[in-house]
Amino acid sequence: MKFMERTCGRNTSVCAGAKNVLTGEKTVVPVSDTKISLTALSSDDRNEHFKAIVNSSDDAIISKTVTGVVTSWNAGAQNLFGYSAEEMIGNNMLALFPKDRAEEESFILDLILAGERVDHFDTVRIHKNGKLVEVSVSISPIRNVQGEIVGASKIARDISDRKRLEAMQSQFKVIVESSDDAIVSMSLDGKIVSWNPGAEAIFGYSASEVIGLPVLFLLPPGVKEEEGQLIEKLAKGEKIEHLESVIICKDGRQIVVSMTTSPIRDVSGKIIGVSKIARDITARKLAETRLLLTASVFTNTNEGIVITDDQGHIVEVNNSFLRISGYERQEILGQNPDMFRSSRHDPSFIRSVLEVVLATGTFQGEVWSRKKDGSAYACLLTINMIKDETGAVQHFVSLVSDITPLREKQEQMEHLAHFDALTDLPNRILLADRLRQAMAHVTRHRQSLAVLYLDLDFFKEINDKYGHDTGDRLLVTVSHRMTGAMRHVDTLSRIGGDEFVAVLLDVGTPVECNHLAERILHACSEPVLINGNLLQISASIGMTIYPQDAVDADQLMRHADRAMYEAKQAGRNRITLFDADLENEIKNRAQLLSSIEEAFGNNEFVMYYQPKVNMRLGTVFGLEGLIRWLHPQRGILLPDDFLPHIEHHHMEFFMGYWAIETGMAQIAQWHEAGLSISISINVSANLLQLPDFEQRLGALLNQYPDIGPGMLELEILESTAMHDITSVIEVIRKCQQLGVVFSVDDFGTGYSSLTCLRRLPVETLKIDQSFVRDLLSDHDDYSIVQGVIALAHAFGRKIVGEGVENIEIGEELLDLGCDLAQGFGIARPMPADQIPDWITSWTPPPCWKHRGI
Ligand code: C2E
Ligand code: CA
Ligand code: CA
Repeated sequence: MKFMERTCGRNTSVCAGAKNVLTGEKTVVPVSDTKISLTALSSDDRNEHFKAIVNSSDDAIISKTVTGVVTSWNAGAQNLFGYSAEEMIGNNMLALFPKDRAEEESFILDLILAGERVDHFDTVRIHKNGKLVEVSVSISPIRNVQGEIVGASKIARDISDRKRLEAMQSQFKVIVESSDDAIVSMSLDGKIVSWNPGAEAIFGYSASEVIGLPVLFLLPPGVKEEEGQLIEKLAKGEKIEHLESVIICKDGRQIVVSMTTSPIRDVSGKIIGVSKIARDITARKLAETRLLLTASVFTNTNEGIVITDDQGHIVEVNNSFLRISGYERQEILGQNPDMFRSSRHDPSFIRSVLEVVLATGTFQGEVWSRKKDGSAYACLLTINMIKDETGAVQHFVSLVSDITPLREKQEQMEHLAHFDALTDLPNRILLADRLRQAMAHVTRHRQSLAVLYLDLDFFKEINDKYGHDTGDRLLVTVSHRMTGAMRHVDTLSRIGGDEFVAVLLDVGTPVECNHLAERILHACSEPVLINGNLLQISASIGMTIYPQDAVDADQLMRHADRAMYEAKQAGRNRITLFDADLENEIKNRAQLLSSIEEAFGNNEFVMYYQPKVNMRLGTVFGLEGLIRWLHPQRGILLPDDFLPHIEHHHMEFFMGYWAIETGMAQIAQWHEAGLSISISINVSANLLQLPDFEQRLGALLNQYPDIGPGMLELEILESTAMHDITSVIEVIRKCQQLGVVFSVDDFGTGYSSLTCLRRLPVETLKIDQSFVRDLLSDHDDYSIVQGVIALAHAFGRKIVGEGVENIEIGEELLDLGCDLAQGFGIARPMPADQIPDWITSWTPPPCWKHRGI
């Protein structure tokens, strides 16, 4: 077809000379045969050939006169327009013209008449069946031998197919241009021929940059060789679909593409090139890789993974979870995770976890889970909620890591930190915690609790005698027995050695409370057989009750401890309730003690002296030193205000020695001044019994070699003397060897037996002032005084009457045979500096002279 078209187009003159041969006859001549050189044929033969060409042509070959009357009409024309030669020859062509193109004919005829020709003029004609036919028309003038234009030859070709093809091609072009895929064509030698915008977008190169370049530059080294093999296959007509390959983009990135490569053929079917359609699948690949990774993590991770659907049914678990839980996969799938709940969590647990997940999208926590065999294991559970794009819950993914060993270790450590290793009872730390909780509990419920401080009696002795092993076993047994005697709400803890603290909840009335404490006390004292030894121990229990004792936890413990101390003091194996009043007193005592100590440092204590006289002779034979506190605010304080508070405190000894030293110094001072008088100093039982008392006394006396030791007298209370008479006698004897003199104070109040009195190596007895004061009015007192005086005479002791408040008492004492006295009736205790004047000026009442005997 193309050949024919070109031949006719180029050799218009040849066509013009074929006027006579334009018949309707059709002769079949192979198209290729038309290549034969026409000049080699005779004139007739030539005509035959033309005729054959015209008749065999698919094109419409028509001739007409200059007025448009058809003179020849070949089979091609009949084919194209539907009319036969008979129908058309002699008629005008105008019937074929659409209305709007009617003037085309006259326009064309005008051109022909002007000797012009029209080549490949695309227009439209009407087929006999009324349909429009697209044609390409070439028209040339036909001249006679004179060269006059006598008609026109017209070759019309149906170009509907071509137009369709063109339309299709432009559609293809649009598709290619608008495709997101890279569409590239290449020649068979691998050079790029076309490059669509998709290719530009994916690979980064513009068409102008790459067209003409070998495609290999886009391929990484490993892929280059493959390309050669690929082209070989394509050259054989194979099509290769969805081949994944790697391409290097302009920016250096390597991307993965899925490529379909097809051969391109020309019209004859010959392969003239290769087309490649490539799609960037890097993202998909990445997603696939990620998915693979996820899948491998899912399978290989040590953590158990459980996936449930939105309804909470298990849809997938990994092997680790099967290993951890001990279940088979098919036993789990479709089930609810509640099946793994340990009995350590109550049934609402899963629900509460789910609520957290639904509210926050996630949950993390340590929970107890249950294995198939029923055993519990601790796990760290992480749950995440997975939603789809619309926000609807799709899945729940739970990660389960078994932390049992960790937890066990932790629990062990916690246990060690909170429990006593020997008895496994809560230790002090846990006790403090429990006590605080218990206090909060009873406060909320308006109840009371008791804190018992319990100390085993003479436990040290058992340890010493039977060894620590036995001691330990005793502690364990006793602790078990005590726990057994308590209710399960109560706590017993060991806070050290043989000390325990019990916290009893909701103790009710004090009687009930005491009953509970007694049960514990009895539990303690049950005999225990250890290593063949039947041991029995008791306990001293101090108890305080909260909130009656409204203090904090630490103070409650201290109060119970204090009460326990009282129980020990009171003879052990008993329960002592903490006494808040007592506590206050102790507190005040502590305050007083520190202020006494301070006052002592400030020299606020002084000695006053009260004269002791011989009423009958009217002489002063001695002075009693009596301590006074010259308090800056409260004035002169008497010994009763402070001495009782320093008992058993080191101040008792400081002050005791100080009194003796002050008395001694005073003797020396007056001795120097020419006044030689003895001074008696009161000595407390505790001071007297200090191991080094006699030694220190000797040292003091040595400081005053000029002073006869007989000038110092020590007064000891009758009760003191009697307390531990053997040792007191010993001290007195030692001190007497130093030359010191002794008297028994407040005689008559200590109920000394005659035997004791006889053994006591003292020089003087002082009748207690309480008897003397009421001597005249109270008959009993009179008898006692009378008896005491008689006793003193009988044992050869001097006797001093204290509390002589008036002359009459003095008279009476004289009458009873007691000449020595002291009392307000004679002189009140006074500061040292007043003593010399007093002695000089004192005159006894005249009636005392010559009384009695
Ligand atoms: P005491 O040894 O029996 O001392 C006599 C107490 O009786 C003194 O009280 C004195 O002031 C008081 N007194 C003397 N005559 C009369 C009287 O006619 N009527 C009345 N109602 N009372 C009289 P003071 O000084 O308050 O001493 C009380 C106690 O304090 C002393 O009793 C003594 O046991 C103790 N004491 C005083 N000074 C010391 C001291 O330095 N060391 C020790 N350990 N005890 C001392
Ligand atoms: Ca005294
Ligand atoms: Ca006295």
